[in-house]
Amino acid sequence: MAVLVCGGAGYIGSHVNKMLNLMGCETVVFDNLVYGHREAVKWGAFVEGDLKDPEAIEAVFEKYPIEAVMHFAAYAYVGESVLDPEKYYFNNVCCTLNLLRAMRKHGCGKIIFSSTCATYGEPERMPITEDMPQKPINPYGASKLMVERIFRDYSAAYGLKAVALRYFNAAGADPEGEIGEDHTPETHLIPLVLDAAAGKRPDIKVFGTDYPTRDGSCIRDYIHVEDLASAHVLALKYLEKGGETDFFNLGNEKGTSVLEVIQAVRKVTGKDFTVTLTDRRAGDPAALVGSSEKAKKVLGWAPKYADIETIVRHAWKWHCRMK
Ligand code: UDP
Repeated sequence: MAVLVCGGAGYIGSHVNKMLNLMGCETVVFDNLVYGHREAVKWGAFVEGDLKDPEAIEAVFEKYPIEAVMHFAAYAYVGESVLDPEKYYFNNVCCTLNLLRAMRKHGCGKIIFSSTCATYGEPERMPITEDMPQKPINPYGASKLMVERIFRDYSAAYGLKAVALRYFNAAGADPEGEIGEDHTPETHLIPLVLDAAAGKRPDIKVFGTDYPTRDGSCIRDYIHVEDLASAHVLALKYLEKGGETDFFNLGNEKGTSVLEVIQAVRKVTGKDFTVTLTDRRAGDPAALVGSSEKAKKVLGWAPKYADIETIVRHAWKWHCRMK
């Protein structure tokens, strides 16, 4: 029996694929390589294909005995989703329907899905718990919330068992340095600060210094990609043991400001670089910090690398190897 990893050539999917293989699980990575990297798939079988093509996904289910699916394949640029929502609703929602159809046809009833804290929009309270209202403020978050809704309905009607994991800010890299974050274009804070530290960028821009936070810059909950990966493995075990469809936050329950991230990069790399204070970026909430109590209690999840300096150290190791 095998686990199908859709989007397994991407940042988070490739780390989960590695972990599944190291624990002896057979995997099949299915990825269109639009944003993913073939060289990130060093474990398991690889099929190049697109979920928009029902025949391509059907062929995978024909060829391999897929018992469960991990679904990472999505577009994830918030700004782009505002400018081109069709791209996001089609890829993130319609293509997921193709996947679910193939799963139903082949009697595969378990799926673990990359959801996001962006489904909460601008929450009224911190830390964010799973029962708080989900009011996304951009099409990216809305597309992920739609899939969550589809899971609820398919679970009730067809007996699907789904776990949606709402990630906070994924960061860091494989501690062994074999894989890591490699987005083109790169928009995420930590890799951009590392670029500045490496002299690949003239500066790092801090988007907003007048937020109602302890130092005026935005606060986010950074979570190590390896800890995200272990949560997926636990979610699979949870479903295998008969767990019901459910939704979990994954974060460190600890906020780190943009200026604190910059400080951690200075400390870890020993490099100095220019920091430019600029205006706020549209659509950025002041703070997003999640409660992960539910994942700890129900899945038995325990993050190993909660410390921001450790997260930055692993990301830097990968950064130095990659560039
Ligand atoms: N950010 C920044 N400068 C950058 C990129 C990001 O100040 O060049 C800030 C951004 O405003 C946010 C935080 O860093 O408060 C994390 O942004 P990122 O894009 O990494 O993740 P997001 O929270 O938007 O998903």
